[in-house]
Amino acid sequence: MTEIAPGAVLVINAGSSSLKYQLVDPRTEHVYADGLAERIGEDASRIKHVAGGNERTVDTVLPDHRAAIEHVTGLLREDGLDLESAELAAVGHRVVHGGRSFFAPTVIDERVRSEIARLAPLAPLHNPPNLIGVEAVSSLLPDVPAVAIFDTAFFHDLPEESATYALDADVAREYAIRRYGFHGTSHQYVSAKAAEFLGRPVSEVNQIVMHLGNGASMSAVREGRPIDTSMGMTPLEGLVMGTRTGDIDPGIAFQLARVAGMSIDEIDHLYNKRSGLKGLCGDNDFRSVLERVDDGDEAATLAYKVYLHRLRHYLGAYMIELGPVDAIVFTAGVGENAARVRADALAHLQTYGIEIDPELNAVRSPEPRRISTRSSRIEVLVVPTNEELAIARQAVALVAE
Ligand code: AMP
Repeated sequence: MTEIAPGAVLVINAGSSSLKYQLVDPRTEHVYADGLAERIGEDASRIKHVAGGNERTVDTVLPDHRAAIEHVTGLLREDGLDLESAELAAVGHRVVHGGRSFFAPTVIDERVRSEIARLAPLAPLHNPPNLIGVEAVSSLLPDVPAVAIFDTAFFHDLPEESATYALDADVAREYAIRRYGFHGTSHQYVSAKAAEFLGRPVSEVNQIVMHLGNGASMSAVREGRPIDTSMGMTPLEGLVMGTRTGDIDPGIAFQLARVAGMSIDEIDHLYNKRSGLKGLCGDNDFRSVLERVDDGDEAATLAYKVYLHRLRHYLGAYMIELGPVDAIVFTAGVGENAARVRADALAHLQTYGIEIDPELNAVRSPEPRRISTRSSRIEVLVVPTNEELAIARQAVALVAE
């Protein structure tokens, strides 16, 4: 049996048909195990599980999230990691939408559960599965405090001019329509890490954080507080993403409904699952897109150009909004790994004080690093995100209070 140190945290990120998990000691940052259960509720499910450096893939049938968490608990037990006898400090749940009610980490009790359920109309694709994850884990580990960490929290105090849509104010108020922002745990963690790397208090750094993964968002962080972010009422707004449109003329939905006869659900699916890079070229894995660009594929080249165009559009806007910028920070799957995207995103910006060093940019490392030249006025950094660790730390800090 491997001892799980008292105080470890199980981090859960439940999606509609998936369950991402990590068992981590937030003090030592030691990860005992992590993994992803996919296609929950379908005929054939799969769990990718990593423990002690060994990865295994299990093909099975997981009718629901409870079955998934039971199966994962079994896998952990086979690895000598017994959750039920471990003295876990907390289970940290990523909850996507905190609405206006939640911005601090919150211990999940009956009242909080029903409040998260009440917020479901704000995030119909996310909050209900998050809650299913909470219930599945709580029934297995009833004595471990469950803590919700909200993806919207970091952006709770966005300046009102950045949070407000120019919509009829009464309608907006009645239906809680405003910009909430997402990926907050990542933007907060990465902006703090970037300041640490620069050896300066986060309260003295102005930075632009680009979280470029399958989902993608950018934020402008002034002295540790976000003043703008690219995602809005939902995670659809902003940058071009793997399968999501990002910004789109709102009138397109009316056109599709009236002319193409599409229902709201069909348009929702189109915008969220069949758009972005996938919609433009059929691929949402950035590695494949870049390979196809190299091969001269026209659809992939256009998709890549549209992606960069939107990215630079936001970059320019945030540089003006922030005033003096100290750092531009890349993170997440694409931001951390795709040197080419970083180089193209910031190409020909020397007149704005931004210059990447191609050799530094080519270095691959899991550590925070600088990729700008010595003469670049704005520091350009790559800072790997770690949302699970950030969730675990926040959950422990709350239950220790
Ligand atoms: P995330 O959502 O943060 O896990 O990021 C997933 C995205 O990162 C996918 O589009 C991957 O194709 C992309 N990605 C991961 N590694 C690389 C790489 N070496 N080069 C380009 N894209 C990558």
